[in-house]
Amino acid sequence: MADMPEFESEMHRTAVAQLDQVAERLHLDHDTHLRLRYPRRSLVVSIPVRMDNGHTEVFMGYRVHHNTALGPTKGGLRYDAEVSMGEVTALAMLMTWKCSLMGLPYGGAKGGVRCTPRGMSKRELESLTRRYTAEIMLFIGPDLDIPAPDLGTDEQIMAWMMDTYSMTQGKSVPGVVTGKPILVGGSAGRREATGRGIVYVLYQAAHSLGEELKGKTVVVQGFGNVGGVAARMLWRDGAVVQGISDFKGGIWNSQGLDIRALDEHVKEAGSVVGFPGADAISNPDILEQPCDILMPAATGSQIREDNADRIRARIVVEGANGPTTPEADAILSSRGVLVIPDILANAGGVVVSYFEWVQGLQFFFWGRRARSRAGSRRSWRGPSPVSGTPRRRTTWTCAPPR
Ligand code: NAD
Repeated sequence: MADMPEFESEMHRTAVAQLDQVAERLHLDHDTHLRLRYPRRSLVVSIPVRMDNGHTEVFMGYRVHHNTALGPTKGGLRYDAEVSMGEVTALAMLMTWKCSLMGLPYGGAKGGVRCTPRGMSKRELESLTRRYTAEIMLFIGPDLDIPAPDLGTDEQIMAWMMDTYSMTQGKSVPGVVTGKPILVGGSAGRREATGRGIVYVLYQAAHSLGEELKGKTVVVQGFGNVGGVAARMLWRDGAVVQGISDFKGGIWNSQGLDIRALDEHVKEAGSVVGFPGADAISNPDILEQPCDILMPAATGSQIREDNADRIRARIVVEGANGPTTPEADAILSSRGVLVIPDILANAGGVVVSYFEWVQGLQFFFWGRRARSRAGSRRSWRGPSPVSGTPRRRTTWTCAPPR
């Protein structure tokens, strides 16, 4: 099959290699397989921003629609220094598989801007977001493509996107983004949904293995929306969270970290680093500590051919998108490590985004309890994290079956 130099990146190589393996296993016909290796359309934009020092900087931004067979496209928006066309394309591809696996009426999309959000002021981020939204305006819309938060973006960024889009329509359009603040049509529970989904899937995995989550030792890379929420829930449920890291480094305590106290520390210090009563540990080292559950919940390609041999977890649950390369997958599998893949493990966010979108289209909003119930039921419909066997025993209470 043809090369794709436009998309050159580790994440894209991983996504295409995984598709090729699955296509072979499913005996997927050649034409369908070939089509799925390419995004349907990709947009590259440049975004000039007047910085606080008075100078203008130009950032590169992307939005990619991978596939539109099942409906409008859905996928996050990432602000990160590593963003590239290849990475965004790979992430859009993963969204197609994720939405399909969850039975959602969406194709996959993704967006990104190459920038360092931590080093930018609120005003600079607002200018960047509004100009990026204006540049991709023709690519997004409630029935076309619906962005959501991802690495480095949050509810505030979604509110600016929604407002910029709505200004061009002369009315409020809540269905254009999900993961926005509740006051402007966001969903109660959306922020926690991805981390919560990971915990649900871990409960299922433990149940399938005849074990309990309580007392299990856990290591989490990334203490943001995904890793932070999952760590908090696991800690509350009696798991022993021994190690956590973020972009600055990691902390370790073999007796377990007090996550509530850690939250307070992060609010003040801006990082987990320096948490009293814990030892410092580097990001590469934290992945290699012995534990029951390892949760990479930061960036892609963290578990690779050169460190997979040293992973000493029994279960790797992929909170991040694409944290394990295909070579590492093979090594972990040969060593009997259970890997719960991203498209299942972190799908809770897009499930609740779907509920938010449906509510935004109808201007009819549900409460947290109803959504939580619907969300967990939707999650249970996915395949077993251990055997991969499809489950179909769920009924719906809050949203219609497709
Ligand atoms: P976030 O920006 O809220 O948090 C990211 C965390 O990772 C932060 O603690 C940050 O300090 C840390 N981090 C960043 N770079 C790092 C590095 N190189 N090494 C170690 N830690 C690093 O982002 P998030 O929303 O939690 O997303 C994390 C991952 O989960 C991403 O891969 C994202 O694509 C994936 N994901 C997110 C969602 C969602 O709903 N937000 C849904 C599905 C998948």
